[in-house]
Order: sequence, then C-alpha cells, then structure tokens
Amino acid sequence: MKAAAFEYRRADTLAETLLPELNDKPVAGNQSLGPMMNLRLARPRRLIDIATIPELRKIVESPDHVRFGAATTHAEIEDGETPDPTNGWMRAAAGNIAHRAVRNRGTMGGSLAHADPAADWVIVLTGLEATVIVAGPVGERRIPMEDFINGPYTTDLGDSELLVAIEVPRPGSSARWGYKKFMRQVGEFAKASATVLIDPENDRHRCALGALGGPPVILADPLAIIEGSVSAADIVSAALSGRQLQSFSMHVAALESALASALGQQEDCA
Ligand SMILES: Cc1cc2nc3c(=O)[nH]c(=O)nc-3n(C[C@H](O)[C@H](O)[C@H](O)COP(=O)(O)OP(=O)(O)OC[C@H]3O[C@@H](n4cnc5c(N)ncnc54)[C@H](O)[C@@H]3O)c2cc1C
Repeated sequence: MKAAAFEYRRADTLAETLLPELNDKPVAGNQSLGPMMNLRLARPRRLIDIATIPELRKIVESPDHVRFGAATTHAEIEDGETPDPTNGWMRAAAGNIAHRAVRNRGTMGGSLAHADPAADWVIVLTGLEATVIVAGPVGERRIPMEDFINGPYTTDLGDSELLVAIEVPRPGSSARWGYKKFMRQVGEFAKASATVLIDPENDRHRCALGALGGPPVILADPLAIIEGSVSAADIVSAALSGRQLQSFSMHVAALESALASALGQQEDCA
C-alpha cells in the first residue's frame, strides 16, 4: 500500500511551523511517519519538513550539559560529529539503532515524538536523566524525559508544539553506565532493554527498564540495586507488580547485564 495523497512544504524557520493548520504534520527523518503513512495509519493533509531548520540542528555545549537540536540524526551521534556529553555512551547507543540507512535520516526528536515503547532513545535518554524542550505558540516548556512519554506512541506534546531540543546532563568523571538491548536480529527494535547510571559525583543513580509496551519504568531504590542488596528479579517483580514475572525474564536479564556492564564486570553490552 502507498500513502494517501498529501501536500509537502519545507520549513525554513521554527516560527513558521508553530502555527500549523489543521492536519499539518511535522516530518523529520520520515523513518517512522513514512511507514505509518504507507500503512494508512497516519493520513496528514500536509507534511511540514523540519529536518533542516537551523534552530533544530543547533548543538549547544555548556559546562553541565549538551543541548541537541531535535533534528540531530542518529548517524551524526554515531559518527562523533556531535559532542557526546557521556563520553561515548550515546555514541554506542546511536550505532545500535536500526540500520545505517535509517540512522542517516532518523532523528532524536522524531524518535522521542513518535514514542515507540521499544525505541532506543526513549530508554537511553530516560536513563541519562535528559530533559526535553518543546516550543509552541505560547513559548517553551522543559519536560523531564520521565514525564514526556505518557504511553505507547503518546507524549506530552500539544497539537501545536514542536520538540525543539534535548538536553543531556554531563555525568561526573567517575560515572559509569550500562545499557542492554535484547533484539531478535541486529537492526530491530528492542524486545527488552535496561539502563543503569551510576554517577556519585552528582548524586545521580538511575536504573530503568524499557520495551514494556508503555513508558520506561524507573526502578525504585537504584542504590540498593547497584549495591546488590536486592536481586534484579525481585526489583523487576516489585516494579511490574500485577504482571506475570515470567513474561519479563528478558527484562530481568537486561537489567543484570546493564548492571554488570556499569560495574565493569563485563564488556560494554549494548
Ligand atoms: C526498518 C526500521 C528499523 C528501525 N529500528 C529502530 C530501532 O532499532 N530502534 C529505534 O529506536 N528506532 C528504530 N527505528 C525508528 C527510527 O529510529 C526513526 O528514525 C525514529 O523513530 C523516528 O525519527 P524520524 O526523524 O524518522 O521521525 P519521523 O518519522 O519524521 O516522525 C515521527 C513522528 O514524530 C513527529 N515528529 C518528528 N519530529 C518532531 C519534532 N521535532 N517535534 C514534534 N514532532 C515531531 C512526526 O510528526 C511523526 O509523528 C526503525 C525504523 C525503521 C524504518
């Protein structure tokens, strides 16, 4: 099947995209929207191409974070064309998204706005305590990643809002990280994923699970998990209470693997 007829316009400035007409839709890399349109799951009247808007391509470094324009592609991060505030953790994650052709066009902002529960940036940026910046007709809002994704393919973005940037905090020099993504074949979305952030200098510790069919789950008491005083199975079971733990054995294994990687007990495990 092919997409229903639509109009197309390339936007040059952010301002002109913030007052959309009914059924206009922004498009960045078109790696998720295109397939949805081909399946007729999305039928926008007009696509507004935001991929080259300068404000969305800008990267700003500051001492405590890097602000990535939403139209930064996965490949630009993978290739080291952008600064990586995480000393390579983001770069490794980017290189593990889909295939190179998808990474060449797909963007961080598009991935977060699409909010596939199994997407890499959804869990990785939650694990890194990133903040999403959105702009609309009444100004900008800053939204912590954990409040941005509301459900499967559902975000906090308003109809006339655009995701403009993602701010990723710089971890301290002694910080450690683990990210495990289980997939059936290279290039596929995760079947289960987990992240572990250990950042004592900034008193930031976070363990999170992804690919659960909804928003990522941030696990309670990350220090207990990191110090090993609770088992991964017990903590996943508590976090997903009401669900059958057997169905989440891959998430338990992903958490154990991400933890071992963060603790330096195994090679990077993406
Ligand atoms: C074969 C294949 C395999 C894939 N495998 C993976 C994988 O393993 N892991 C993974 O994470 N992803 C995977 N993807 C998805 C890929 O990462 C996409 O690039 C990403 O999900 C969407 O980014 P995009 O820039 O292409 O967004 P688009 O397709 O252009 O847009 C997606 C949605 O977001 C909206 N949107 C885009 N940008 C903005 C913005 N700045 N503000 C507001 N709304 C916006 C659009 O209106 C649309 O609704 C795969 C895709 C394909 C085709």
